[in-house]
Amino acid sequence: MAEQVEYVVVGLGAFGSAATYQLARRGADVVGFEQFDLGHVRGASHDTSRILRHSYHTPEYVGLTVHAYDDWADLERDSEESLVTVVGGLDLFPSDSAVTVTDHTESLSAHDIPYEVLDSVAVRQRFPQFRISPGVTGLYQQRSAIVPAARGTATMQRMARAHGGRLVERCAVTGVRDRGHAGLEVEAGGRTYFCRRLVVCADAWTNDVLTGLDVRLPLKTTQEQFSYFEPADPPAFSQGRMPLWIWQGDPTFYGFPCYGEPTVKAAQDCGGPQVTGDTRSFEPDAGRQALLADFMSRTLPGAGSPAWSKTCLYTLTPERDFILGLAPEHPAVCVAVGAGHGFKFTPTIGRLLADLAMTGECPVDIDSFRLDRPAFVDPPPIEQWAI
Ligand SMILES: Cc1cc2nc3c(=O)[nH]c(=O)nc-3n(C[C@H](O)[C@H](O)[C@H](O)COP(=O)(O)OP(=O)(O)OC[C@H]3O[C@@H](n4cnc5c(N)ncnc54)[C@H](O)[C@@H]3O)c2cc1C
Repeated sequence: MAEQVEYVVVGLGAFGSAATYQLARRGADVVGFEQFDLGHVRGASHDTSRILRHSYHTPEYVGLTVHAYDDWADLERDSEESLVTVVGGLDLFPSDSAVTVTDHTESLSAHDIPYEVLDSVAVRQRFPQFRISPGVTGLYQQRSAIVPAARGTATMQRMARAHGGRLVERCAVTGVRDRGHAGLEVEAGGRTYFCRRLVVCADAWTNDVLTGLDVRLPLKTTQEQFSYFEPADPPAFSQGRMPLWIWQGDPTFYGFPCYGEPTVKAAQDCGGPQVTGDTRSFEPDAGRQALLADFMSRTLPGAGSPAWSKTCLYTLTPERDFILGLAPEHPAVCVAVGAGHGFKFTPTIGRLLADLAMTGECPVDIDSFRLDRPAFVDPPPIEQWAI
């Protein structure tokens, strides 16, 4: 027997949980499927922390960050949970950085967001933890914040259920067929569901889910990793004394102040081997950990040595822009992919996916995230992942 449901969401990581929450909150009949346990560590939304920041290289992304802060605040109110910890953020630009300090300052100014540009002496005066050379420019933005990854995702799942949404874990969607005016037919857990709209938030598994619709996107999944360092003097790395930071060089690195424990988390952004959601390993690469440790010993010598590392997945588009839109030829199917920098936007992506699913329209200009954009029809020969 086929079950009728208005909306089906595939994948209950951060994005799918947010979409299910937003649909349920609007009174829609929605069911979300997750192939593994809720809160599993095989995708992109686990572990403690993610960076939320205004500081981005284009006015479009900065504009989206304004929505992100508002939508996190809205989630905090609705869930009665504190999720956003403002700690301040420092972008560090060596002279040869792929995205420049000017890209960032012009984009911030376009939205009247305050910032400070600091030369290397001013950076070291304010944050003596850093050892940087004279050619490095700092960009400080005081609203940069930490948001909890696993806990934030769990909050959206809790709120999805509180608003009447159904979340089904350990239940993979194994088939999707477009029946035109009759809606979509979705196979999950040996049952068939007919729905009006389908929301695909499957990240590393996106193309597998879209196979039945004959849609294939130019995605590359890489296995990334992050390490926790144990400083000898944790108070020197505490919130208030130590900001979030991004080294905008090649390679790019980023890190956090202490967050809930006397360790500091740091990682390289991109650079891991290409894998699939099914072929990846959970074994951190010793060479990549050594590269990060070397950078840390030169730039943040007080951070100490890496105590442990963990792996996760980035699902990247050729220009690292998000995917957010309707599938070409299948207007009842919405797709979102965060391209390895989406968590900060999660409550906004959930809201916009709910808009798209319910009305086919989006109140924010998401044209450059559409599934038939030029970079997807004719992918550039070299990927551009600096953001
Ligand atoms: C180490 C790391 C650090 C990051 N740091 C930041 C940061 O600081 N700031 C930031 O903004 N972003 C950051 N990101 C990116 C951000 O975390 C991701 O963009 C975001 O979490 C993606 O969420 P998602 O729900 O799309 O993917 P996932 O969490 O991977 O969820 C996809 C889900 O779909 C499920 N699924 C797939 N196929 C099926 C199926 N057929 N049936 C049922 N379920 C299915 C999967 O099991 C999975 O649970 C980081 C990512 C990583 C990995």
